[in-house]
Amino acid sequence: TRPLVSPEKREEDGDNSLRPQKLADFIGQEQARANLSVFIEAAKARGEALDHVLFAGPPGLGKTTLAQIMARELGVNFRATSGPVIAKAGDLAALLTNLEERDVLFIDEIHRLNPAVEEVLYPAMEDFQLDLIIGEGPAARSVRIDLAKFTLIGATTRAGLLTTPLRDRFGIPVRLNFYTVEELDYIVTRGARVLGMGMSPDGAREIARRARGTPRIAGRLLRRVRDFASVDGAETVTRAIADKALRQLEVDDAGLDALDRRYLNCIALNYGGGPVGVDTVAAALSEPRDAIEDIIEPFLLQQGFIQRTPRGRMLTAQAFKHLGLSVPASTAT
Ligand code: ADP
Repeated sequence: TRPLVSPEKREEDGDNSLRPQKLADFIGQEQARANLSVFIEAAKARGEALDHVLFAGPPGLGKTTLAQIMARELGVNFRATSGPVIAKAGDLAALLTNLEERDVLFIDEIHRLNPAVEEVLYPAMEDFQLDLIIGEGPAARSVRIDLAKFTLIGATTRAGLLTTPLRDRFGIPVRLNFYTVEELDYIVTRGARVLGMGMSPDGAREIARRARGTPRIAGRLLRRVRDFASVDGAETVTRAIADKALRQLEVDDAGLDALDRRYLNCIALNYGGGPVGVDTVAAALSEPRDAIEDIIEPFLLQQGFIQRTPRGRMLTAQAFKHLGLSVPASTAT
């Protein structure tokens, strides 16, 4: 089972109260936001559909939220689905033929589309046309259907997982990065206000610091800290209360969760700090390789706990120190 704080989506995130509704309320991702607002204005001024957009980045950084905001700013309908859900070409055809002019179709996990479905998407994206085969055998014939000019917004955890023809059809590729502590501080403070919680500035800072650079985790930690505070009868979340709750949740001082530490300990203790191949680590941890590459490693890399080398993953001196282990002489500092 995943630690409570893993960045993947869950049922309990159904509560959307923390989701920003306007581009101006969306904190962080400055560059992406600035560019998108120009493209949105330009498309609106021309009365055209916005070019197709691809969001790439680790889970929980705001890809779905941004897609929803863009549809709202464009003043069009938002239809959402996800790669693995579209089983057959016909399912996609049904979605596409129901779109109105300039609508946004959001496909999450677009790298997981099945190839037959992806084939249908190419002419739809490029020429707003659908080629369907009707009937079977000698009576089969192909018909071409014109579609409304729509905007496809795709989201993926890694752009490298997309096939080249699909990736090439997105005019606006956008990479999302981990958030800074200051940005998360702002998000936590706003979230506390929305939830009607008392929150001290150092309490918000502590949650922000330990949210793994990820708004979804910040929101989840905020809710759990609220539970601890209310059981303790505290009216305001202070740094001490936040710290106590986060320890209970096994979120350490660097914001790493139990799974992050298992990963680091595995490489440190079983493989002398590496280099070790990702498949080997995946097998040792009994975790899918995808989860390791999409969820665990990006943050550890960004924080300087691991390095990717041609021969595999290596722990840095910082990682050994964080685990309370002595740094092997072979480790580069
Ligand atoms: P993704 O699609 O990248 O997995 P989501 O868009 O579903 O991520 O965002 C996850 C959660 O984080 C949502 O509940 C959303 O409210 C919150 N969130 C994401 N980005 C921001 C942001 N920039 N400011 C405030 N909250 C955010």
